[in-house]
Amino acid sequence: MKENIPHPDFPVIDTHVHLYPDALASKVVPMLSERFGNPPAFNGTIAECAANAANAGIALSINLPVATTPDHVGHTNNFWAQYAVKTKVGESAVMSLAALHPKTPDAASEVGNIARMGFAGIKFHPEYQNFRFNDSIMDDIWAAMADAGLVAYFHAGGERVFSAPFHSSPSEILTLHQRFPKLKIAAAHLGGFGMWDEVEETLIGEDVFLDLSHTLSWMPNEQIFRMIKAHGASRILFGTDAPWQDPATVLSEFLELPLSEKERRAICYETANELFSTYGRS
Ligand SMILES: [Zn+2]
Repeated sequence: MKENIPHPDFPVIDTHVHLYPDALASKVVPMLSERFGNPPAFNGTIAECAANAANAGIALSINLPVATTPDHVGHTNNFWAQYAVKTKVGESAVMSLAALHPKTPDAASEVGNIARMGFAGIKFHPEYQNFRFNDSIMDDIWAAMADAGLVAYFHAGGERVFSAPFHSSPSEILTLHQRFPKLKIAAAHLGGFGMWDEVEETLIGEDVFLDLSHTLSWMPNEQIFRMIKAHGASRILFGTDAPWQDPATVLSEFLELPLSEKERRAICYETANELFSTYGRS
């Protein structure tokens, strides 16, 4: 399979994967697989992710952990702290963002702890965590994250295993960005899974980062291409949502888009490298 993949000549960063500690992966991944209705590309462990990424020509995979309840925050972050900075695993590397639940007691000071632990950002999921971006309960969190320079990485838009009405929309992300202009926002799925027309009307061209996970093969390539061009490659991130999509397949689909080498390099490497300070952060 490896030889079929056109390897770009820069270190590809996948900014959107979901990994679990080994003991948890063997329980959680089969359960989610049944829920999502598709088999995982690998077993959800750090080692398998890195091996799979190396095979696909991906140099670094960034894990986005979600705390589904406040009491999962502490142990999740304590585990992933060892990967808060880019860490070599076999022939590839893994790094992780932190988790935070909107109802974590004294969440703003937890943001400080997360920054001190060395994490570059925090993942939020409005469906699993049952909140909206502009809920007042979130304001202290966003302010603390903007101060600390942490990236707020969002699941955005629809979700395969949840049903409408969803807890987020592109216009709500725009409102949040206008309320907290210094907050670094990375919105998955090109700003709103299944809400791409609304993204084109509201978010495109704004100073927020959008990732490509669950877009390639989920929406027309012409619209993806048009959105990348209008938004600017310097604010687009390459993400796969592995293990729920196959990284090699997603990367080869991405490389079929008629983008320039400069744009590919920005999307696959430069933007993520700068946003997450994957090199040289201590
Ligand atoms: Zn995801």
